[in-house]
Amino acid sequence: MSSDILIHDVIVIGSGPAGMSAALYAARANLDTKVIVGPQLGGQVSITYEIDNYLGIYEDLSGEDLTKRMVAHVEKFGAELIYDEVTGIELDGPVKTVRTYSGELRARAVVVSAGASATLLGVPGEVEFTGRGVSYCATCDGAFFKGHDVLVVGGGDSAMEEALFLTRFANTVRVIHRRDQLRAGPQLQERVFANPKIAFIWNTVIESIDGDRDVTRVHVRNVETNETSTLDATGVFVFIGHYPNSNLFKGILDMDEHGYLQIDDRMRTNLAGVYACGEIADPTWKQISTSVGQGAMAGMAVETWLGALESLPA
Ligand code: NAP
Repeated sequence: MSSDILIHDVIVIGSGPAGMSAALYAARANLDTKVIVGPQLGGQVSITYEIDNYLGIYEDLSGEDLTKRMVAHVEKFGAELIYDEVTGIELDGPVKTVRTYSGELRARAVVVSAGASATLLGVPGEVEFTGRGVSYCATCDGAFFKGHDVLVVGGGDSAMEEALFLTRFANTVRVIHRRDQLRAGPQLQERVFANPKIAFIWNTVIESIDGDRDVTRVHVRNVETNETSTLDATGVFVFIGHYPNSNLFKGILDMDEHGYLQIDDRMRTNLAGVYACGEIADPTWKQISTSVGQGAMAGMAVETWLGALESLPA
């Protein structure tokens, strides 16, 4: 992509369910719509093994398949995907500039839907062994652990879904959780407790991850007794939540103390013509359906905003 003097109608930053939904609504309203894809086409959903909580989609659809459908859908209505990442932005004023590695784009409106990323444990060994036993994606890496003993860290829906997925490959899956109760929903809890390959290590945190070339063991501490011990494992799958990808917008867009962008009920940020949707602006719900809903609202809000601008006297 070269520098571009055209002023588009809308640039969508991010290609997860929120951004693609915003792009679909904008493109179907005949707006000239560009989507900067970001580091992962489809966002987090693209690495989800199976979709089963998105209304109407209840069998045999993977995140990868849903991503392909999202791409085909927005392209059918004329949105253009730009396979690049945002490196800089200027969002105030009537014309917004979005810079990428390969050039810059301008538009009258911007939808920020850059999503969220996995939170790290922050213990010694974690970064060193990432890709050599430490993983944040069972769907991506699970097959490498055929016949291995693996650990899953976390007690939420993600940890339980990924633990269930890992039972397809691993010999044993032990879930390490810092409390003695799961945060995951009741249905997932039922499934993990019924799975004979999954065991639980309660009230425990990982203090460090150790190994030679690859992970061989982790050092843990029981938070009730303070007792420490070592567990042999070759895989450590970490699912302890996400943080919003909002660094680029610091000092530009209003955000809460955790970095989630602040929006009103029309997906508006503090800057005119700049909207946000999906997990970057959602500390609570974080579902495909809620992101798609927010994206739809953002797309419609952009259309209304641009329509109102056009009806102003010149
Ligand atoms: P989450 O619900 O925030 O759960 C994170 C888990 O990690 C919690 O159990 C938390 O412990 C634990 N944790 C956090 N920080 C930790 C640390 N430093 N050390 C050890 N443990 C730590 O995150 P999530 O599971 O990624 O889910 C995020 C959202 O996506 C949720 O709203 C969830 O419902 C949704 N989601 C839904 C589905 C589905 O419906 N199928 C699938 C995936 C995700 P505590 O419990 O003690 O806080």
